[in-house]
Amino acid sequence: MDDKVSTLKEWINESNKIVFFGGAGVSTESGIPDFRSQDGLYNMDYKYPPEQILSHTFFENNTEEFYKFYKEKLNCLDAKPNITHEVLSRLEKEGKLTGIVTQNIDGLHEKAGNKYLFELHGSIYRNYCTKCKKFHDANYVFNSKSTIPYCEKCGGLIKPDVVLYEEELNKQIMQNAIYEISRADMLIIGGSSLTVFPASNLIYYFKGKHLVLINKDSTIYDFYAGLTINEKLGEVFKHL
Ligand code: NAD
Repeated sequence: MDDKVSTLKEWINESNKIVFFGGAGVSTESGIPDFRSQDGLYNMDYKYPPEQILSHTFFENNTEEFYKFYKEKLNCLDAKPNITHEVLSRLEKEGKLTGIVTQNIDGLHEKAGNKYLFELHGSIYRNYCTKCKKFHDANYVFNSKSTIPYCEKCGGLIKPDVVLYEEELNKQIMQNAIYEISRADMLIIGGSSLTVFPASNLIYYFKGKHLVLINKDSTIYDFYAGLTINEKLGEVFKHL
């Protein structure tokens, strides 16, 4: 591991357009479970599988059940950025990191101070009325008296601005993410099983010099990276 961390440091030193592409594993050390680890949400017992609950059809047809799960499992308003978020924020301030492309919806990169953020799957911090489009903050949604939050202006149903299964990713955000990755000289991918399409395909847009993959478990892209570290992100980032 020491050799690998040294290589990682060397590559960071010689790069000036670093992009970080991350998934749920970036936030597990902030206490937010991912989906596919052993203690992830997919391995817990629910009446319905999480993929089904977090789908557009389920949101439309079983709104109350959706919000029960959403409020119980995706409320991470009190979570704090961990060492990985903090180092990434510092790298942006130093002018080395040009963007973070994330599949996470927890807002922790923003809390850590990063500005160049591409949140592919949206954020729990943005919520809109499906009728009048009025914005509602996360507190309003998570702490609504009724299980289902309704708009304070028109009474319409509120939907979190998170991309559910069956929904398309925001085209502009995706294009911006592709642009940043394609002009980067270094891409660090961390904490993602790289199984969620189309986000996982972003790796193919990278044309730069150094591709690094840091993930606790191995992924099908391990062979593709110049440097693969199968460790916890915190264990790696604490050396940076
Ligand atoms: P995933 O659950 O499929 O994969 C997470 C990966 O991270 C796993 O391979 C696991 O081995 C690894 N991992 C876990 N903890 C780690 C750590 N400390 N250090 C290094 N690696 C670690 O997650 P995904 O690939 O991001 O895709 C799942 C979807 O889940 C995404 O669409 C995302 O929107 C959503 N999600 C988001 C959050 C969040 O916002 N924090 C949490 C759960 C799920």
